[in-house]
Amino acid sequence: MPRIAPPDVDRAAAARAAVAARRARAAVKQSIHDRSRTALEVATTAWDDPTAAAEATLRVRELLTSIPSLGPTRVAKAMEQLGIAESKRVGGLGVRQRRRLLEWFEQRENRGHPASPSRLVVLAGPTAVGKGTVSTFIRENYPDVHLSVSATTRAPRPGEVDGVNYFFVSDDEFDRLIETGQMLETATVHNAFRYGTARAPIDVALAEGKSVLLEIDLQGARSVRAAMPEAVLVFLLPPTWEELVRRLIGRGTEDSIEQQRRLETAKVELAAQDEFDHRVVNREVGQAAREVVELMAIPHTPSSSRSSRL
Ligand code: 5GP
Repeated sequence: MPRIAPPDVDRAAAARAAVAARRARAAVKQSIHDRSRTALEVATTAWDDPTAAAEATLRVRELLTSIPSLGPTRVAKAMEQLGIAESKRVGGLGVRQRRRLLEWFEQRENRGHPASPSRLVVLAGPTAVGKGTVSTFIRENYPDVHLSVSATTRAPRPGEVDGVNYFFVSDDEFDRLIETGQMLETATVHNAFRYGTARAPIDVALAEGKSVLLEIDLQGARSVRAAMPEAVLVFLLPPTWEELVRRLIGRGTEDSIEQQRRLETAKVELAAQDEFDHRVVNREVGQAAREVVELMAIPHTPSSSRSSRL
């Protein structure tokens, strides 16, 4: 059937109304993003308040992608799990879909406050982003966190202590650790040395109710996710790509060919960030460390303030 075009004046008014509606939806998304409202609050407003047009006309996919730390891959997975079509708007969800979405929000909420306070958190991220600095800060300031000590076949650098920074082992010893089934994950990093996480100390710490932090590479993070799906994966990001380049070149530990190779690897690693549960930007080490610790169910009192109370 031929469509009848509205008169010009109506068209202008309709265009203005559409722009206003888009702006209102953008403001709702922003409020979730900057955490002034939760996605759950927005959804229940859409369902309970008949005047809440911006909330009701927001697509479910947009509602979920506005949640900080939730990447498009996890959103797509959640939508599939919930049986909600791409084009569905929050206000247009059926009763069963609403119930499933509410349950999904509840589960997410409980993941942040589990009944048992111990959690296994994996910190990964691109080369030179400062994972080591953040985990050292955590070791020195948050003694309640059990930092896993990896085994490696590389030689200690000046100042590194066996048993504190790493267990420095020979290739034969590393093979033996694998053969005797002691390793949760292992990886060859930067095509050079082997690194791995022993399983037993992690099991013991978790059984004692401690939260455990693994600072490992991307391959290791994937292996841990496969072996222990309950692990929380945190991706550490640089503030900008330029800053990552500056950090890699500035530390001066690699020659220029190796720097170039690691930057290529970093691009690939950055592309994996959506596989992670949370993203933390490493602008300032103390702040990034605090954000990582806050993702672990432990009291967030740095040791400095704790000792000042003694
Ligand atoms: P570095 O030799 O500079 O201390 O560490 C090199 C890389 O190895 C870093 O990306 C670090 O996260 C990673 N790494 C350290 N320990 C482990 C581990 O146990 N497993 C895996 N997969 N990677 C590790």
